Amino acid sequence: MIDHIISYGHQHITDQDIDAVVEALKSDYLTQGPKIAAFEKDFAEYVGSKYVCVVSNGTAALHLCAMALDIKPGDKVITTPITFVASANGFRYCGAEIVFCDIDHETFLMDLDKLEDILKASPKGTYKAVVPVDFAGYPVDVERMRALADEYGFAIVEDACHAPGGSLIDRKGDKHMIGDGHYADLTVFSFHPVKHIATGEGGAITTNNKELFDKVSLYRTHGITRDPALLQENHGGWYYEMQELGYNYRITEFQAALGISQLKRLNWSIERRNEIAKKYDAAFANTSISTPFRAENITHAFHLYIIQVDKRKELYDFLRQNNIFSQVLYIPAHTMPYYKQFGWKQGDMPVAEDYYSKCLALPMFPSLTDEEQDWVIEKVLEFIK
Ligand SMILES: *Cc1c(COP(=O)(O)O)cnc(C)c1O
Repeated sequence: MIDHIISYGHQHITDQDIDAVVEALKSDYLTQGPKIAAFEKDFAEYVGSKYVCVVSNGTAALHLCAMALDIKPGDKVITTPITFVASANGFRYCGAEIVFCDIDHETFLMDLDKLEDILKASPKGTYKAVVPVDFAGYPVDVERMRALADEYGFAIVEDACHAPGGSLIDRKGDKHMIGDGHYADLTVFSFHPVKHIATGEGGAITTNNKELFDKVSLYRTHGITRDPALLQENHGGWYYEMQELGYNYRITEFQAALGISQLKRLNWSIERRNEIAKKYDAAFANTSISTPFRAENITHAFHLYIIQVDKRKELYDFLRQNNIFSQVLYIPAHTMPYYKQFGWKQGDMPVAEDYYSKCLALPMFPSLTDEEQDWVIEKVLEFIK
């Protein structure tokens, strides 16, 4: 019997994390100091990208990508309906027209065959960007996306908010960490507490493209530069120029300190999450429950463990009565009242809508205890019997 609430996700904070934050609070800088640069360096090393720009949250990261790609009102951007709405919203801030592409029935990621159909139906260059989502932590086939991007002329902004620490082995046999900048133009991460690395609020953009990196960095801080090489004039040591209309999308030093400390446990977190997934898989193997698909060539980051069941609402309610707060992720974005005003409606994305009618995310976070997981399994099995 478990007498406390087990939610579908939870942050993991250690004494080391707390010490790191306290140290930052006692230092000379609360923002715009050395911890931010150190976090960027560590994160770049971890994912293997040339550049990292750490920002205030994942949504800001998406907005900065849209700005760096010079997305203008009416520009068409494709994303998946099974994502957190921010994947689309970040581009709407620049006035993009969002085109939804239905999902694959196995991975629940954007269906790249359907993407190709959409691309083929219009002249090359019609779509400025495609935003695939590594949904639940499953790495999208960025290698295939790169080939499509080169053929049809769009930028890839990979929304990897669910997937730091995930990786895939490409057709050449090379391993790529998500966000290594090899295939995607820009990759976006979130450090919201429910994600793998928790900084309270926080996010990052990784890229191997210096020009895009310079742009997101400029827009992160008001469009202000102090770089002598970029200045149009120079009046002295105090001088800076605001060259573009940017935002304040900075993260603080104590958040960056927390991020540095949390990043050290990311590999452990991925391993633990995969262990939890295997245990769920085994428990539900010979039942009517459908468990998450994974191909041989990927390392799943398991932000979410999503099952598919017929009586989803009843199971959700039953689990809640037993202190298990499972979650339904996501309500298809194209059915949100905001996106409906652009003509999207129920029925447009049949695979996504079918997925939504059956999906349920069970507790999945590295500090979930065996006892807690056993309780979840017991109650799920009790329900479906
Ligand atoms: C969490 C999340 C975001 C937004 O990140 P925030 O840091 O909360 O702004 C964007 N896309 C996806 C897929 C997410 O899960």
